[in-house]
Amino acid sequence: MLKLKAGVVAQGLSTEIMLAVCVAQSVYASYGHDCVITSLLDGTHSSTSLHYSGNAVDLRTRIFESTSVAESVARDLGDCLGADYDVVLESDHIHVEYQPKR
Ligand SMILES: [Zn+2]
Repeated sequence: MLKLKAGVVAQGLSTEIMLAVCVAQSVYASYGHDCVITSLLDGTHSSTSLHYSGNAVDLRTRIFESTSVAESVARDLGDCLGADYDVVLESDHIHVEYQPKR
């Protein structure tokens, strides 16, 4: 199941991030977990963050049993999304951004 944390602003979300969210949901499901979006265009991020243009999403990680599971999920997600996306495991979420390299 895919869920949005209360207060998450989705207006202006890029279709590329929508696709990443679909992929993330299937990766989370393969680990037996719901995928919870904790930030899209809302919240405070670094001044150059891709969140403000709808090209980034944060996903909840506290549901995982251990850091190693979170690392594994982030790695699988990166493998599925390929080179045009960056997947970064932060202290309390997985940050995914669409940033084509060409
Ligand atoms: Zn983020």
